[in-house]
Amino acid sequence: MTAKERIVIVGGGFAGLNLTKYLDKDRFEITLVDRNNFHSFPPLFYQIASGGLDPGNISFPFRRELRKLGTEGLSYHMGDVHTIDVLRKEVRTQFETIEYDKLVICAGTTNNFFGNPELIKNVFTMKSAAEATRCRNEILDRLERASLCPDDPQRRRRLLSFVVVGGGPTGVEIAGAIGELKRYILQREYPGINSEDLQIILLEGTDRVLGPMSPQASEEALKYLKDLMVDVRLGKLLETYRDNVITLKDGSTIYAEMVLWTAGVTGETFLFEGTDYRPGRGNRFEVDEQNRVKGLTDIFAVGDIACMITDKYPKGHPQLAQPAIQQARHLAHALNTDTWDKPFVYKDKGSMATVGRNLAVADLNNGVHLKGTFAWFAWMFVHLISLLGMRNKLTVLINWVWAYFTYSTSLRMLLHSTKFPLRHRWGER
Ligand SMILES: Cc1cc2nc3c(=O)[nH]c(=O)nc-3n(C[C@H](O)[C@H](O)[C@H](O)COP(=O)(O)OP(=O)(O)OC[C@H]3O[C@@H](n4cnc5c(N)ncnc54)[C@H](O)[C@@H]3O)c2cc1C
Repeated sequence: MTAKERIVIVGGGFAGLNLTKYLDKDRFEITLVDRNNFHSFPPLFYQIASGGLDPGNISFPFRRELRKLGTEGLSYHMGDVHTIDVLRKEVRTQFETIEYDKLVICAGTTNNFFGNPELIKNVFTMKSAAEATRCRNEILDRLERASLCPDDPQRRRRLLSFVVVGGGPTGVEIAGAIGELKRYILQREYPGINSEDLQIILLEGTDRVLGPMSPQASEEALKYLKDLMVDVRLGKLLETYRDNVITLKDGSTIYAEMVLWTAGVTGETFLFEGTDYRPGRGNRFEVDEQNRVKGLTDIFAVGDIACMITDKYPKGHPQLAQPAIQQARHLAHALNTDTWDKPFVYKDKGSMATVGRNLAVADLNNGVHLKGTFAWFAWMFVHLISLLGMRNKLTVLINWVWAYFTYSTSLRMLLHSTKFPLRHRWGER
């Protein structure tokens, strides 16, 4: 018997998990390494942050998924891969060293603070279920504390000064969700707070929100945000955020006690040994049309962290779920059959974003544009079918139906957590 080839996959997001599924288990011994023991669904992180869903509703434990695949030679290792040694052909985590014959990097991206160290400590982010949960805690904490100062309107307004930085889909979605909270929940459940006390500002550096979508979608999203009382400020770039004051590039300032940063991502970082290789623009690994990392042997990159430059996509594919899923399936086929002559071609299925209840926009691949209630139902359908696990699908559906009829979300538990920004009132040291 010949030994199976060992494939190590770093990251079990859309790319890594699909690759794990489609690789031939009779041919390869597969090790999936991820710092979290579950796969999660980033498009719905904003619903965790706004109390619409619990993290467990949109996560799926790797071990359960691997058991479902039910094959020997398939294992999950928890660990944060920090080093890739290309000479020894091994990766290192904080716990162990894992040898590979072939390595596939599917580690996705992390927040990009554009070298501004103040932002790292002071802003809230939504790149993981844990970060989104932290946002939810902070928003709820602020609402509770604002309700405790009935005679101090200035303090209430300061506590409830929210600024979202970045008008991409995530920024638009979380700003809209806070807008809905202001519109539907505040008056009913926080009688001590006036709705004017809560201010949401959305800062976007360019001249429109939802930049990657059609101008029509941007205009409609802008209108929906305004309907939800979000103060959208276009062409505004953040320069610094210090002592609760945002200073913009144009010199103007905004007081904000909670800043949600959705303004940029960059590829996850690794230390390389045995090579002077460095990833390219956006910390992405430039790959050929088979997802082979250019300049490295037996190393592949798939998903957000890969940059495949083609005539149609001179800056690489958009960092979205579909390119990650499609690339993973393509690479699995190439590895399974050892055929490398068919280049990857991305099939764009369109894009959509939701702003709130009955308010969404969708640009479909056939040129059809949807808006309002129809787009919102389409958005819900697409997200439901994409979620992993029947239990998750049902729970999310029930939550959405419940919220639709009650105009409320019931998941507003304030769970004190740790990490930056430190909150001493939560007992953090
Ligand atoms: C808030 C938010 C909203 C989004 N909304 C949409 C949307 O509506 N539609 C859409 O198409 N796309 C959306 N995206 C983008 C989409 O989520 C990504 O394009 C997609 O997740 C990329 O898949 P991936 O497998 O490359 O990376 P990811 O899904 O990010 O997976 C990376 C995995 O690698 C693990 N990992 C990272 N570094 C290491 C390491 N060093 N060691 C071990 N494990 C590691 C992570 O834990 C994670 O499980 C959104 C993203 C975010 C953050």
